[in-house]
Amino acid sequence: MNALTHENARRVGQVVELLRASRSVLVITGAGLSADSGLPTYRGVGGLYEDRHPEGNVPIEELMSGEMLAARPDLTWKYLLQIEEAGRHATPNRGHEVIAEMESRFDRLWVLTQNVDGLHRKAGSRNVIDIHGDLHALRCTRCPCQQVVDDYTGLAVPPRCPACRGVVRPEVVLFGERLPAKQLAVYQAETARGFDLVLSVGTTSVFPYISAPVLDAYHFKKPSVEINPGETDVTEFVTVKLALGAAAALDAIWAGYNN
Ligand SMILES: [Zn+2]
Repeated sequence: MNALTHENARRVGQVVELLRASRSVLVITGAGLSADSGLPTYRGVGGLYEDRHPEGNVPIEELMSGEMLAARPDLTWKYLLQIEEAGRHATPNRGHEVIAEMESRFDRLWVLTQNVDGLHRKAGSRNVIDIHGDLHALRCTRCPCQQVVDDYTGLAVPPRCPACRGVVRPEVVLFGERLPAKQLAVYQAETARGFDLVLSVGTTSVFPYISAPVLDAYHFKKPSVEINPGETDVTEFVTVKLALGAAAALDAIWAGYNN
């Protein structure tokens, strides 16, 4: 691994001090964290469908929408399957591991993730708000049948419910759909309590519910940290900005914290 530049090492030290002064921490994660496990994303930098309109002129936002799932489940499932296949053999990286280890070291630590790959739980995190759902949780669109699968091996496209033959879908938020009520309730309760420190890791923060905790921290004069190689909408509001990859930055921070 490359040594950190002097400036990045100084900033890692600042993050370590912020962690030492915190009892409660919110870690927000996005595609940049899973990218370190080799996963592509729905869209965005390095995304699976960037600059591509896979089905003729139909944009991915339409193909991966709730409406399309209802009208043409075979089409939506074609892309769900591709996304699942692209990450099928992915394993948690050092960043996921560090976040999982952090959970037992603070009074209260929550992970708010946009990733649907389930890697936080696989790494051992328990306090996870998977606000966009999880690809591995399947449910029937017609009856209460549900099932958790390791992967999509052997699934028909679209898969049908064994009980009622209804179309089965993953519990993920498709374009145009609302956030899941259960996750949203936990999100609202935990963000209302507030956190001593907010870490934003590998996300461009384009969704308001993803940027809100960072902006709240700014308004309430609480510290926040952004780990992202690029500039985002929240960069100007954070206390410390680390322009590094997620796994490398978290590994350096955790080494410093445990030193
Ligand atoms: Zn059913």
